Amino acid sequence: MEKTLAIIKPDCVRNGNIGKVISKIEENGLKIVAMKMVKLSQKDAEGFYYVHRGKPFFNSLVSFMTEDPVVLMVLSGDNAISKWREIMGSTNPEEAKDGSIRKSMGTNIERNCVHGSDSPESADFEIKYFFNSFEILF
Ligand code: ADP
Ligand code: MG
Repeated sequence: MEKTLAIIKPDCVRNGNIGKVISKIEENGLKIVAMKMVKLSQKDAEGFYYVHRGKPFFNSLVSFMTEDPVVLMVLSGDNAISKWREIMGSTNPEEAKDGSIRKSMGTNIERNCVHGSDSPESADFEIKYFFNSFEILF
């Protein structure tokens, strides 16, 4: 079983879409094995997105990710990383395929509702960044 980190971003929390995102996860056969709601500090968000440091959108992304609470989850399943990215859709909601979360609930390329790890290495880093081993229940 593979694990991946999922985040319901501040736009999606504020728009009242937490339940819809969780339904999509469960309908698609992924299992939620850890979950918590937190408000990220600037330091939390900068460290989480360190790979994007120096990019033109970095400061705006950090500001967005800290403006309201987020829901952090660890998802588990066969090919959980690619499966969750498929359910999310492309980074830009305008390019995301019909039925994907970003297409139906994302606002724009920054405010795109959800996050998912993009490789086993990033999943490992991202899960450990937010969860300790006692918080991962299966
Ligand atoms: P993904 O979340 O699909 O893996 P990236 O890792 O490339 O996408 O980017 C991380 C996050 O940064 C995106 O989900 C989005 O919120 C934001 N982002 C990416 N590209 C842009 C951009 N060109 N303009 C504004 N925000 C962006
Ligand atoms: Mg990414």
